[in-house]
Amino acid sequence: MRGQNGAGRPWFPDATAHDLPGIEGRMPSRGTQSRGGAPLALAATLVLALILAFVAVVLLQGEPARAQTRATAKYVRLTFDDGPVRGNTCRVLDVLRNKRVKATFFVIGQQARWNPGLVRRAYNEGHSVQNHSYTHADLTTLSNAGIERELRATNRAVVDAGVPRPYRFRPPYGATNARVRSIGTSLGLTQTLWTVDPRDWADPPASVVCSRVLNNVRSGSIVLLHDGTGANTDNALPCIINGLRSRGYSFRKL
Ligand SMILES: [Zn+2]
Repeated sequence: MRGQNGAGRPWFPDATAHDLPGIEGRMPSRGTQSRGGAPLALAATLVLALILAFVAVVLLQGEPARAQTRATAKYVRLTFDDGPVRGNTCRVLDVLRNKRVKATFFVIGQQARWNPGLVRRAYNEGHSVQNHSYTHADLTTLSNAGIERELRATNRAVVDAGVPRPYRFRPPYGATNARVRSIGTSLGLTQTLWTVDPRDWADPPASVVCSRVLNNVRSGSIVLLHDGTGANTDNALPCIINGLRSRGYSFRKL
């Protein structure tokens, strides 16, 4: 903006109008209106300055306002562990489909072997399918080779079900250390824990699961739920989803 104003160049007709080609024609002639010319030009300059200032304000404020909207858009990630199992996983998937919510499933490898159709269904309905070990072992108690076996076998089970290879793993019980994490990394699996745990696996009433989630979420929260266990999880889900939506949250997958 600075410079377009002709900074450094005088803009008063009585001083320079005759020296500036192109301006002269638009300026009041010196001979006829030398008294009224200066105030008129000053007024025009002020109007121009106001217009430029207005444009500058709009340009400067428009972008940060949009950036702020992006930064304050609230979202949560719902995750479901320990499946897939007949019954429960289907009910969870049904609710997610009805509510148009995408989530992430951390599957146990051997469950995926037993129920490849459910792994496929979760993926085909837009969810993310990730790695929760093959036998739900405490990975910190295993040898390096044992940890690798658990993670690799689960990747294979998911791929054999016709779903892309996982890129995240969640250690069972959240039990982890630097060794577990780095073996995951070496297999292309980013360790992913959670930030909100309503302990749905212990089967509290659906209303309790729901209020524990709603009372503890913040934007960016990763909510730990269970489709493999958690008898009341599917019943709690509509309350969780409606409650989060009414608080302005959207849903993302990992
Ligand atoms: Zn688990």
